Amino acid sequence: MTVLPEAGTRHEESATGRLRAVLAQAAQVVGADRVTYPDEETTGTPATMLGPNAGLHRSRAVFGVVRPQTAEDVRRVVELFADGETPAALHAFSTGGNWGLGSREPARDGAVVLDLSGLDQIRDIDVVRGWAVVEPGVTQARLARLTEGSERMLNVTASSAHTSVVGNALDRGVGLRHQRVEDLTGLEVVLPDGELIRVGWWPEQDRPTPVYTHGLGPSLVQLFVQSDLGVVTAATVRLLPRPEALRVVRLAFAPDKVEAATAEVRRWVTQGLTRGVVKIYNEVAARAYGGEPGQYLVHVCVDGTPEVVDALSGILAVEAVRSRLFGAVSDSDATDPAAAGHDVAVRVERAYAGDPDPTDALFEAKTGRPAVRLDEEGGFLFFLPLVPFSGAALARADELVEQVRAETGIRCGVTLNVLGADVVDCVVTMRFAREGEEAERAHRVLDRLYELFVGEGFLPYRLDIDHTGWADRLPAGAGARSFARRLKDAVDPHHVIAAGRYA
Ligand SMILES: Cc1cc2nc3c(=O)[nH]c(=O)nc-3n(C[C@H](O)[C@H](O)[C@H](O)COP(=O)(O)OP(=O)(O)OC[C@H]3O[C@@H](n4cnc5c(N)ncnc54)[C@H](O)[C@@H]3O)c2cc1C
Repeated sequence: MTVLPEAGTRHEESATGRLRAVLAQAAQVVGADRVTYPDEETTGTPATMLGPNAGLHRSRAVFGVVRPQTAEDVRRVVELFADGETPAALHAFSTGGNWGLGSREPARDGAVVLDLSGLDQIRDIDVVRGWAVVEPGVTQARLARLTEGSERMLNVTASSAHTSVVGNALDRGVGLRHQRVEDLTGLEVVLPDGELIRVGWWPEQDRPTPVYTHGLGPSLVQLFVQSDLGVVTAATVRLLPRPEALRVVRLAFAPDKVEAATAEVRRWVTQGLTRGVVKIYNEVAARAYGGEPGQYLVHVCVDGTPEVVDALSGILAVEAVRSRLFGAVSDSDATDPAAAGHDVAVRVERAYAGDPDPTDALFEAKTGRPAVRLDEEGGFLFFLPLVPFSGAALARADELVEQVRAETGIRCGVTLNVLGADVVDCVVTMRFAREGEEAERAHRVLDRLYELFVGEGFLPYRLDIDHTGWADRLPAGAGARSFARRLKDAVDPHHVIAAGRYA
């Protein structure tokens, strides 16, 4: 457990001395220029030093930032903390683009931060068998580039092309093909005692073993997802078969048709007319995608052989017209340079095909600024509940967002990511100005969203750093939370790894 030293006591002096010594040793491991302290005088006193964050969450006081470049560096740094004598625990991030949930910040004060963006090797890749071994600093743009022209593709997210494949998967992020955690087949982890282990599937030099996550016995990969049991230094990730052809059908519907239109979309999903994650944007979220004012926008991906794509998009157009629920249906915006939404449609189709746009044009349309300036200048919060996939439940979620608007004057953006026949990732976003009262109001809206959605049974699957307390308020299986704590105590008796957002 991290106990901040009490001011002016002998305990403080020894704790401060211990921290100074450990950070100095860490500097010997990674290089003096790769360790940052609050300042020379006050090393051992925690301070806010991770810079601003896009969510305007309270900056946590940290004791220092260590930027290793190899897994062995990470292992040696963790080992320095392993005896539990150092009064700080380690918080790791990959590229730190966790905007709207806390960015680079740890959940609590008093951590030493491991910035793993310097571990940026693509250690190995096999586009025939469909896997890559990547370190935390590898971005989706870099990995995707290596699959260009091959029979494989990466499942990319709608976040910046320059965010981490590993970091996103470790927080159960959502790509355009499915939830990213499904692509994690193996993890390399430094345990709290400094031992480096590999779990799940890892390639062998001489034998083509099948890519299969679970191995024999308990499946260990998931133990390190949304977890504070270790520091991940590499992952094997799945590269998906690339379809021969792909098209995104674009549809619009009016706000009073949410229940019926989403129920119709569900019918298409359950009957196999779609591939990848269907996305439904409310009128606020649709703006960045060139949605018509006042209309909801739907992106339905179809892929396969060219004949399958022609057939499925034709069937979808017929079904959409027959349902009388959709005001506009188009499947040619990406191929017709004269179409109003041509540029956006091309970028959307490329993303579904595993090609993240390195210029981040759509990302900037959503955030108003480049990814590198978002933490400094942007105001962005996320709330991420799961909602059952039924027209009635999605209409209810829409009503709750409308209730929040009525109460606070803030109309949130909503993107519904369809994760299958039964569940929808309902991404609620607030974009706000950093100055004045807007940020405070956005945080009040976030609190309200937690209350209203959880009250309805629509439970978040990712938490921001200011709502970690909800992990104990959300339903879990009988004994599950205390079992997780027993595991933590067994694996990390000195609590060397900082309690995370889900502890
Ligand atoms: C406009 C916009 C669009 C977005 N679209 C999407 C989207 O489509 N899908 C989506 O999922 N998210 C999306 N996001 C949210 C976010 O930007 C992404 O999830 C992003 O990938 C997270 O940043 P990162 O990859 O740098 O991960 P990081 O910030 O590095 O890591 C995330 C968390 O994982 C844990 N972690 C990371 N690395 C390690 C490690 N090596 N060992 C142990 N624990 C670790 C830490 O708790 C860390 O806080 C979007 C954000 C914005 C602003």
